Amino acid sequence: MNAVLQLGLVGFGKIARDQHLPAIEGTVGLELVAVASRHSHAEGVSSYPDIGSMLDAEPGIDAVILCMPPQPRFDAAHAALIAGKHVFLEKPPGATLSEVQALIALAERQGVSLFASWHSREAAAVAQAKAWLLGAEIHSASIAWKEDVRVWHPGQTWIWEPGGFGVFDPGINALSILTEVLPEPVRVLSAELDVPVNCAAPIAARLTLATGANTPIAAEFDFRQTGPQSWDISVETDKGSLVLANGGNTLAIDGAAQSVDVEAEYPRLYSRFADLVRRGESHVDLAPLQLVADAFLCGRARPTEAFYD
Ligand code: NAP
Repeated sequence: MNAVLQLGLVGFGKIARDQHLPAIEGTVGLELVAVASRHSHAEGVSSYPDIGSMLDAEPGIDAVILCMPPQPRFDAAHAALIAGKHVFLEKPPGATLSEVQALIALAERQGVSLFASWHSREAAAVAQAKAWLLGAEIHSASIAWKEDVRVWHPGQTWIWEPGGFGVFDPGINALSILTEVLPEPVRVLSAELDVPVNCAAPIAARLTLATGANTPIAAEFDFRQTGPQSWDISVETDKGSLVLANGGNTLAIDGAAQSVDVEAEYPRLYSRFADLVRRGESHVDLAPLQLVADAFLCGRARPTEAFYD
């Protein structure tokens, strides 16, 4: 392995440009050497149309960062692991649970690191919320994750296809925070999924969840929210009420704003990834994906108005 970890990135879309590039540039010990994308080129690094040609032409790459939508993720991850590369998966780690389990086994056989990243877990107030909730008696929790899909996901047709998750594409971020901060596993009791008649994935969903100890959790996800957007989680406890808002970046206890860490989700993810590689470890937590899969397994789909971008 190179002293500086040489990275190849696949799927040069919105999140790769907005977050991955600056975070890689700002992390000591990492260097982006190549990008593979069918329709885009990155300035200053080698560009390839697909992962296969990138891996063939760049044998010095140590790790591959996968930023494409979930549907083509497995094939790319498989190719990278077979080539002996460490792999960083954008969220969600795959389109299905079984494919991610296959990747875990393959990474182990190949002796390389596999990292399923959950960027919202690195939001500024999440660690503090987790520490505050530890030891508290939790009475109830709720999630309101409502955003305007036309603002945040314009032209992303893959979101509406099978394996694209629909409103769970952002909603899984809420579930990643919930499963991080609550001291107990969470399960799905029931789900209602509003699926536009011209789409395969839900535009809105309401989930009834509970902890193993039956603490009730209500979750509402909606892609049709115009005006103020909501990315909020509230928890009622014997110590008082906690509100994690703005996607985990602000924290209030009993209505009083708390001072929190700086916002640095992707820099934290890259430090974590570099550390895993150094230690020869993997980290793949499937809990958020499991909850989405369970919502599809036990949910009732309701056809709703057609959606046009
Ligand atoms: P995006 O803007 O649509 O970019 C994804 C890129 O992947 C595309 O530009 C495309 O580039 C490539 N790609 C490869 N195979 C594809 C396929 N079969 N269908 C569509 N594109 C394909 O999406 P994104 O917003 O960056 O999201 C990508 C992943 O990051 C998703 O899993 C998402 O959940 C996650 N994520 C997104 C955000 C966000 O705010 N947008 C935040 C955090 C995480 P080429 O056509 O050039 O190959």
